[in-house]
Amino acid sequence: MARVLIIGAGGVGSVVAHKCAQNPEVFTEIMLASRTVSKCDAIAASIKERTGRIIETARVNADDVPELVALIKRYKPVMVINVALPYQDLTIMDACLEAGVHYMDTANYEPLDVAKFEYKWQWAYQQKFKDAGLMALLGSGFDPGVTNVFAAYAQKHLFDEIHVLDIIDCNAGDHGQPFATNFNPEINIREVTAKGRYWERGEWVETDPLSWSMTYDFPDGIGPKKCFLMYHEELESLVQNLKGIRRARFWMTFSENYLNHLKVLGNVGMTGIEPVEFQGQQIVPIQFLGKLLPDPASLGPLTKGKTCIGCVMKGVKDGKEKSAYIYNICDHEACYAEVGSQAISYTTGVPAMIGAMMMVTGKWMQPGVWNMEQLDPDPFMEQLNLRGLPWVVQE
Ligand code: NDP
Repeated sequence: MARVLIIGAGGVGSVVAHKCAQNPEVFTEIMLASRTVSKCDAIAASIKERTGRIIETARVNADDVPELVALIKRYKPVMVINVALPYQDLTIMDACLEAGVHYMDTANYEPLDVAKFEYKWQWAYQQKFKDAGLMALLGSGFDPGVTNVFAAYAQKHLFDEIHVLDIIDCNAGDHGQPFATNFNPEINIREVTAKGRYWERGEWVETDPLSWSMTYDFPDGIGPKKCFLMYHEELESLVQNLKGIRRARFWMTFSENYLNHLKVLGNVGMTGIEPVEFQGQQIVPIQFLGKLLPDPASLGPLTKGKTCIGCVMKGVKDGKEKSAYIYNICDHEACYAEVGSQAISYTTGVPAMIGAMMMVTGKWMQPGVWNMEQLDPDPFMEQLNLRGLPWVVQE
């Protein structure tokens, strides 16, 4: 049915490629392209071994629009699945417009020199995509992504109005390393060390990084864990699209060990994003740190335990107050057995494949730039249950 081009051969790109290959009725031809072609080739070899399917690979610099356009025009996919880094979102969107193909990603654009992620840069493409008759789907990972769809499902089926939303992301897995990040270290540390921000009665309230915490008792044997308030990009679109929302917050669990390492690294300047001169060379401390830390993809065989990510919501239905919790539990070892990756890459890569599936099968296809909660949650929720990320609703 559809020929797709996946860009980015990291932890997430590997899962997207494996999951697309597992779905041959929809994804008939697949190309995986990235900066380092040997990583694409290693993923292609794993796919051949696990599914028997052959996918194409290519080298591309996704910062370079003409190079991207040339690759897209040569391969002729119907859409590009962007799972490179957030810095490449705009160049890939530009290339998709120029080559006339649809676009999807899992993280919003972030300029390299400012640790600030916002949708404004990508929302500015709305008219261009509409005029070209093309679709851009933003943030089809887990959070953003599935969390937006959970909220849309709750708004459609469980509530007349959602007043309070708490998105809670718990990684109760253990990789046994002194310090490592579960996805791209640079993006992860920029996100975690940024100021916290939440929505309350029509405005954003800012908090110091990791200064607010609560303990939440997670289901499925995970138990109580300390969670920290952070800003997360899906809040920006959800507060615009959820009817009657009064407060929206995002929480993530971190171990004491992770926080101690982060504090020391921050204190000595290793998480900085400003270049410093060292022996005649410009070095960005966080990029150097990223090189020293374990590659997130290498954590796959080491990580044990589960993740639990979901939305806790309070609101009204038929004039009565009610609350609901929608969540998914994912097991690191089961993910590794299936596709050779840990659960953080898996919980991002599976929704990326489903988002692409929603587009190419026509269920979600419409011109313009869209966030996940603006589209019908039902077919996406159905696929989550079928493709490895089953969900639970507790009312
Ligand atoms: P990785 O760092 O593991 O992988 C990124 C890949 O992109 C690498 O293969 C890298 O190439 C490639 N890349 C980087 N720059 C370029 C470029 N200029 N041209 C071509 N390829 C490039 O990251 P992850 O797989 O962990 O994350 C991928 C994306 O998923 C990120 O945007 C991240 O923010 C997002 N994400 C979203 C989540 C969600 O729930 N929504 C959760 C987790 C991640 P090379 O191998 O040469 O370095």
